[in-house]
Amino acid sequence: MIVSSGDGVAATRPTAPAERGDGVFGAPSTAAGEVADSSAPADGDVASGLATAAALLRVAGDVTLLAHVHPDADALGSALALGLALHRRGAAVRVSFGEPERAPESLIALDVAGLLVPATQVPAAPPLLVALDTGSVQRLGSLADRVRTAQAVLVIDHHITNTGFGTHNLVDPGAEATAVLVLRLLDELGVPLDADIARCLYAGLVTDTRSFRLASPATHSYAARLLAAGVHAEHEARNLFDTHPFSWLGMLAKVLARAELEPEAARGLGLVHTSVLASDVTGMRTEDVESVISLVRKSAEAEVAAVLKQIGEDRWSVSLRAKQHVDVGAAAVALGGGGHRLASGFTTTGRREDILAALRAALDTAPVIR
Ligand code: MN
Repeated sequence: MIVSSGDGVAATRPTAPAERGDGVFGAPSTAAGEVADSSAPADGDVASGLATAAALLRVAGDVTLLAHVHPDADALGSALALGLALHRRGAAVRVSFGEPERAPESLIALDVAGLLVPATQVPAAPPLLVALDTGSVQRLGSLADRVRTAQAVLVIDHHITNTGFGTHNLVDPGAEATAVLVLRLLDELGVPLDADIARCLYAGLVTDTRSFRLASPATHSYAARLLAAGVHAEHEARNLFDTHPFSWLGMLAKVLARAELEPEAARGLGLVHTSVLASDVTGMRTEDVESVISLVRKSAEAEVAAVLKQIGEDRWSVSLRAKQHVDVGAAAVALGGGGHRLASGFTTTGRREDILAALRAALDTAPVIR
């Protein structure tokens, strides 16, 4: 936990955070779910960070909660869970994100109180801004300027690459999901879990832990509380992971047929990659496109999986996953992106072959995880 509150709850900014050094952007928009244990904070730091965040929120009458661009279930679920709790105790609350215009279809149902607003309706100078699951100012996209104009900025995040851009930062790279931090914050605030809040938190938890493969015993206990509060696990998982349009099958057939295995790449541990052309996914949802990496990564012969998604003529968004040995977070940072050690991404411009060449080079120099 990195906690920097300094001068207390009513603190205003000493400097403009957006101007602090921050070279990390383009982290993955999908489930990340990697736990960085090396920088796990001391328990006392966690407790004081939660207390500071709770003190800030307890007196707030107007709260703007932001998820990162192309929000995933952890970002949006965390923002909506905290937003619902604050809304129910009478605060003016809105939840938003910089882009795209609409939230992923599979997450819209979480917004039972109508807290989601378009980015264009976010106040120019919010009294309190809360950025969730967002590792850097740039990851707020078109709303990044609010970090400068807000009176106070609370950052709640678990990315190891978080730059600490808030006036208050509740950052714990040891937490498997931002939803874990929000649940602990709700406990600190004395907010009882109800089914609506629990569903939002569960969405973040099940996604970022890769369906609890990466969840600690404590996090399984949190999940048990969410189920007891009314979450239907099978329903949520089916909606989040197991529902795609029929045309998704045809898209997969094309994209998976294009996959290539490079056994010598990634220090000889193997790289599998494919690309998703814009024409492959016309009319499809983000969820449908983001599912490709979860299939490609299953290749036994490759430690690292990469999916290059075409987002413009020569513009590519690249998702990276590693099984356990190669720090693809570091590789992504080297290529202008960020994320977690085993799940990361970057966005770049160029020819597909050139991007692959740069990726091979980055993987060959990325730290080995032992
Ligand atoms: Mn997350």
